[in-house]
Amino acid sequence: MGVNITFLGGAGTVTGSKYLVEHDGQRLLVDCGLFQGYKQLRLRNWRPLPFEPRHLGAVVLTHAHLDHSGYLPLLVKEGFHGKAWATPATRDLAEILLPDSGHIQEEDANFANRHGFSKHSPALPLYTEEDARQSLKRLVSAHMGETFEPLPGWRARFFEAGHILGAASLLLEVGGRRLLFSGDLGRPDDLLMKPPGEPPAADTVLIESTYGDREHPAENLLAELGPPLARVAARGGTAVVPVFAVGRAQALLHGIAELKARGDLPASLPVYLDSPMAIHSTELFSRHLGEHRLNAAQCRDMAHAAVFTATPDQSKAIALQHGPKIILAASGMATGGRVLHHLVQYLGGHKNMVLLTGYQAPGTRGATLAAGGTHLRIHGQDVAVRAEVIQLRSASAHADASQLMRWLKALPQRPSQLYVVHGDMEAADQLRRRIESELGWPAMVPEHGSMWPA
Ligand SMILES: [Zn+2]
Repeated sequence: MGVNITFLGGAGTVTGSKYLVEHDGQRLLVDCGLFQGYKQLRLRNWRPLPFEPRHLGAVVLTHAHLDHSGYLPLLVKEGFHGKAWATPATRDLAEILLPDSGHIQEEDANFANRHGFSKHSPALPLYTEEDARQSLKRLVSAHMGETFEPLPGWRARFFEAGHILGAASLLLEVGGRRLLFSGDLGRPDDLLMKPPGEPPAADTVLIESTYGDREHPAENLLAELGPPLARVAARGGTAVVPVFAVGRAQALLHGIAELKARGDLPASLPVYLDSPMAIHSTELFSRHLGEHRLNAAQCRDMAHAAVFTATPDQSKAIALQHGPKIILAASGMATGGRVLHHLVQYLGGHKNMVLLTGYQAPGTRGATLAAGGTHLRIHGQDVAVRAEVIQLRSASAHADASQLMRWLKALPQRPSQLYVVHGDMEAADQLRRRIESELGWPAMVPEHGSMWPA
C-alpha cells in the first residue's frame, strides 16, 4: 500500500500551501493555506477541493501565516471535523490571525457591496470571523521535538524552521515512508528567530523555494533600516511600513528600538504599531521565551518601541499627528488591512516614504510599488505614488538559495524523492537545477493539482 502526495497549493506559487498525503484510505493535509496575490490564484480559494472535507482525517500546520493556515476556517465550514495539529506558538498565533482573516473578508465584501465594484452581487466573504472562531476548536498542539499521532499508525514530529514564532518543519512517518516537509525556512542570521534545525533523514523531502533564485545581501537589517528612516525623519516625512503582523513587525520594532538606543534615530521620533494582530503577536514573544533570540528585557523594549494603536479611532487619529513619524501596519504586501488607509493618506507626498519589508508576491500592491508603479489601486480609486519607495533586501524571514542548499546538504542521506515547492516558477526551477548540479539529486517542481508517490 503506497503513500501518495497531491499538491493542492504551494506548487509553482508561494501561496495556498496544501499537501494532501494519502495512505490506505486515510487522508492528512499538511498546511491549509489561502491563495493570495494574482486574482487567478485567489479564485482558487473558491474552488472545491478534490476530496470531501468530512473525509479528511487530520490537518497539520507548519506555521500560522495565512498562506499556510488561512483556509482552515473554510475547510471546517465545509465539514472537516478532525484535529488540526500545530505547535503551541502557532496555535496562539492562529487564534489571532484566523478570526482577523474572517473579519477582513467580511469587511472587503461589505465594502464591495457598498461601493458596487464587485462583479458579483452581493459579494460574499470566503468565510466569516465566526467561521474562523469555530475552526479554532479543531486546533490541538504538539511541542517541538515531541512525537504525536495525527492519525492511527501515523507518527509526526515538529522541529524548528526558524521562520517566525512557532514555525516548524515536519517529519511524517506513514506506511514505512518518512516524509519531510521543510515548511517555510528562516535564515540562520535572523534578528529574532533561532536558526532552522538540522533536518532528519527522510525518503521524501519537500523543500520551499521562495528565494530559490536569489541571495540575501550580506548587509544586516539594522544597517539597511537606519539610513532611510533617518532620512525621512530629517525631512519631516512619514514612513509607512507595510508589515506582516507576525514576524517582520516584531523584527522591525526590535530594530527601531536598537537604532534609537544607538542614537541612529532620534529617540523622540514617534513610532506607531497600527495593527491589533501585530500588537497581540508582539505580546506573544514574552509568552514563548526560549523559542526566539530575545530575552525578557528585549521583549519589553520591543513592546515599548512603539505606540500601540488598537482601535480604528486611534488608527485614524495618527493622520492628525503632524511631523515625522513611522507607521507600521499590516498587511505586509498591502493586500488589505489598515496599511491601505495610511497609503491613501501618505503616498501622494514627496517627503514621505514606503518601506517594503519582505517578499512581495506578484500581483499584490506591494509588488506594484516595488516595481516602481506610479499609481496604486486602493478601494476602487487610483492613488498617485509620489513618496519614496524603498524595498529592504535584508528583512526577509526566508532562507536564501544558498541557505536552502545548506539545509538540504545537512540531510543525513539522499532522499529518494525531492519536490521543490513554495516558490514562483522561476525561483522553484532555479533551485531545482541547482540541486541537480550541486548535489546530483533528481528533483522536480510538481504541478498544481498533480499527485505523486511519496
Ligand atoms: Zn510563512
